[in-house]
Amino acid sequence: MSEHASALIQAARAAGRTSLDEASGKRLLAHYGIEVPRSVVVQPGADLRTALHDVQPPYVVKVMSPDILHKSDVGGVRVRLGDAAEVEGAIREMSRRPEIARARLDGFLVEELAPAGQELVIGGMRDPQFGPLVMLGLGGILIEVLQDVSFRICPIERIDALEMLDELKGKPLLEGVRGRAAVSKEAVVDALMKIGGPDGLLTALGEEIAEADINPLIVSAERAVAVDARFILRQKVSV
Ligand code: ADP
Ligand code: MG
Repeated sequence: MSEHASALIQAARAAGRTSLDEASGKRLLAHYGIEVPRSVVVQPGADLRTALHDVQPPYVVKVMSPDILHKSDVGGVRVRLGDAAEVEGAIREMSRRPEIARARLDGFLVEELAPAGQELVIGGMRDPQFGPLVMLGLGGILIEVLQDVSFRICPIERIDALEMLDELKGKPLLEGVRGRAAVSKEAVVDALMKIGGPDGLLTALGEEIAEADINPLIVSAERAVAVDARFILRQKVSV
């Protein structure tokens, strides 16, 4: 494991955490070559004009809290904010929401809006016998209701990643049906390899990670951007 990746995980463990916060999760993904939005973590009341210097609008604001699993469910995600003043207003409004006001707060993640595209999910979990598994699914209702997903044992090869895509019943959604633009399958295969391939994140960190969830990975005609990231750490069994 490289220095940087292990430092992110050790810092979370040292802070008594059982999962990585979204900003750390995205740094981990970026370390393995997955594209994530440029972002900054701010505290309420911060000087946003300075903080947002390197982050370009339109902005997305998200609450960061170990107590909040599904940010949208508590009004903790706002997209398409035009400037620092709108970001400030969104943070103020979120901070007043009861579920957010009573949660432990890590801050607010302000990030760039990813290009529009098809939402996919890449997941990771452990099989007690085979170790890390990588999962691919189509986002939203397709994964929740239809459980349209495909699994492989890590490490995977490109041919496996292509087969995973092929197995999805929702595959036509990636190929441009009913006037939708086709999305880059190559970008999906590339992202799958960076997670589950021989040098991928799950293959390298399988001993540390109990569960990974990139939900969604937004895939457009050229790119795949991980806009949400959650990593649950494995409990160390002491002997
Ligand atoms: P949740 O904790 O509710 O899953 P997400 O971070 O996944 O929160 O955000 C909810 C939704 O907002 C995503 O499914 C996606 O549609 C949209 N979204 C979030 N971040 C971005 C972004 N940076 N660019 C574009 N859309 C985004
Ligand atoms: Mg999400």
